[in-house]
Amino acid sequence: MMKQADDFERVSLGFFPTPLERLTTLGDSLGITLDIKRDDYTGFGGGGNKVRKLEYLMADACRKQVNVVITTGGHQSNHARMVAAAARKFGMKPVLVLRGHQPETYQGNLLLDKLFGAELEFLDPDGYFTQIEGAMNAHADAAQARGEKALIIPLGGATPLGALGYVRAIEEMDAQLKARHQLPPEVIVAPTGSGGTLAGLYVGARKYWPDTKIVGISVSAKAQWFQARISAMAQDCADLLEWPQNWTPEDIWIEDDFVGTAYGVPSDGGIDAIYRVAQAEGLLLDPVYTGKAMHGLISLVEQGKISAGSRVIFVHCGGSPALYPFAQTLLEH
Ligand SMILES: *Cc1c(COP(=O)(O)O)cnc(C)c1O
Repeated sequence: MMKQADDFERVSLGFFPTPLERLTTLGDSLGITLDIKRDDYTGFGGGGNKVRKLEYLMADACRKQVNVVITTGGHQSNHARMVAAAARKFGMKPVLVLRGHQPETYQGNLLLDKLFGAELEFLDPDGYFTQIEGAMNAHADAAQARGEKALIIPLGGATPLGALGYVRAIEEMDAQLKARHQLPPEVIVAPTGSGGTLAGLYVGARKYWPDTKIVGISVSAKAQWFQARISAMAQDCADLLEWPQNWTPEDIWIEDDFVGTAYGVPSDGGIDAIYRVAQAEGLLLDPVYTGKAMHGLISLVEQGKISAGSRVIFVHCGGSPALYPFAQTLLEH
């Protein structure tokens, strides 16, 4: 029999269910019915989408009686910040290997990393992808040499187990919509950085909402790369649920026109979206993920790739601590 996401061990970190709210002004101006899933309000450690994944990943860490949790991310990584908070909650030491140079001032997520007492190592951006595995392994080896047990959580917590967090998110939204006698959305739009969120949303939607399309707006890599990675992760996640699937990369819908210059560099379209949503709805997005994803949503509606009149859910994955380090860029725009 197929397993449920609820059958897997989980620690309780976030405040669930997160709100699902209607954005009337923005939705009307776009000609769609727009709801937003407020996963910026998962609450724990400053909140964001990684909390759902970490409920599963930290249960694994607790079961393994880990002393040190090691992970990685960009300079302003929300994921790394939430891992640091989660490690502390369970008496573990967080080690974060971040892509970027040692900063002069610790702002935004870097400040929070410091408050959580994380050990930080900075890797030169150019050598990052060749050095990251070795750097994290070196921290694990050092822990072991001290007689401690270490666990490495991959970039973005993007594992089949972590993705179960977003299968649960679909279950949660399904219950919210049923309670309001509303139909499932035709389209879900979410930012895509490591792909774990999209993989979980995809599995959950195939399970509960077979007619719903899941659109990932890339904030970093090319569509092809994500399609291969996410279809594989989704299959592995379905395997965990003992629900074997034959999904292919073509099944995964990724838009890669909204990255801008690079990951972590605010784009003009993304900043426009931040201002538009702030002034239409009093709602904050961030320049690294959700602003770019909203730029994608708006453009897909304008291009007709999301049809007029559609029911759409935008997944707000958090990230507002990253607004402040970009103050100058946002104001000069
Ligand atoms: C990590 C993150 C994402 C991307 O989620 P993935 O599961 O890594 O694809 C989107 N938005 C915010 C704010 C994030 O921190």
